[in-house]
Amino acid sequence: MKVERVTVHKIRLPLKQPFITALNTVDERILLITEVTFQDGKIGWGECSAFDTPWYTEETIDTCLHVLSKYLIPALYELGEFEHPKAIHALFKRYRGHHMAKSAIETAVWDGYAKSLERPLFQVLGGKSGDIEVGTAIGMQSDEEALLQRIQEAVDIGYRRIKLKVKPGEDLEVLETVRSHLPDVPLIVDANSSYTLADSDLLKQMDRYNLLMIEQPLGSRDFVEHAELQKVLDTPICLDESITSFEAAQTAIALKSAQILAVKLSRVGGLAEAIRIHDLCKRNGIEVWAGGMIESGVGKAHNMALATLDGFAYPGDIAASSKYWEKDIITPEIGVQGGKIVLPDQPGIGYEIDMEALKAYSEETLEY
Ligand code: MG
Repeated sequence: MKVERVTVHKIRLPLKQPFITALNTVDERILLITEVTFQDGKIGWGECSAFDTPWYTEETIDTCLHVLSKYLIPALYELGEFEHPKAIHALFKRYRGHHMAKSAIETAVWDGYAKSLERPLFQVLGGKSGDIEVGTAIGMQSDEEALLQRIQEAVDIGYRRIKLKVKPGEDLEVLETVRSHLPDVPLIVDANSSYTLADSDLLKQMDRYNLLMIEQPLGSRDFVEHAELQKVLDTPICLDESITSFEAAQTAIALKSAQILAVKLSRVGGLAEAIRIHDLCKRNGIEVWAGGMIESGVGKAHNMALATLDGFAYPGDIAASSKYWEKDIITPEIGVQGGKIVLPDQPGIGYEIDMEALKAYSEETLEY
């Protein structure tokens, strides 16, 4: 394989409804969509899912554009011919960090590679079956009634589990209300690092709500305090923000900081690193699931392909296109039926880019 051209589309997608967490409110998404053209004429698509400010990860859309244009894309041209997408993972090791920028190119290369083999990406990654169970995350709502309504809508669509956002002051009461109305819905709570170890007693009270897991209650880079907390909680802890690499996953496993890990492929630098983490967890009896970052259809399609690997034991945060977007940039749009998404049987990510929609959302097109 050899890369001939890289085009970066900077797009602005308005959300249908604002998404509210302990950290921030997201009402629009600025994303970089990468279009990588190969010598054989195949085109691979990737996405940079960083946010426009560093509220969730250190990287932003602007830092990613800088790193892509100044370091990663020149390195790609310098590399010339290569055999397999794993070469890109190795190539980018010369630069530290900047995982989301790396992932934007690395995933596009995997898509192009699968297309050159004329096979669906999920099969190339080692996934067995082309359908996956999915769940959804519901942001904080203005009142109880609105929250129950949103949960009921998600249950009616068939999502296999629901994730609620909590923070200090919006936690036990919320769970009490939800559980009194919906005692059996599989539930996760995500605290997005909003508690401290001093809140252990409060978090321990969550054990009575039959939660599948509590996601990232403590510091966003912490392992030590989560291990302390896990000793007193019956509910499994899931680490999300802390899992930035293979080494981070090793640390979590060695220290027993969590029983479950959320793998966000863009945060760890792409598909090759995400697969390494999956394999490590499988060897160690740790379950994983695919986290979401309010991606467009391109980012979701990569996430879906990853989630077909058999260590992904819990439904991923991979909602239908229509959850966030009036119109997605892929065709057909991603649909959820009976709590499942059936991946297309087409080469690569399996979806076409809706060039008209891409153009309509586009702010800037950069050629390299
Ligand atoms: Mg999370």
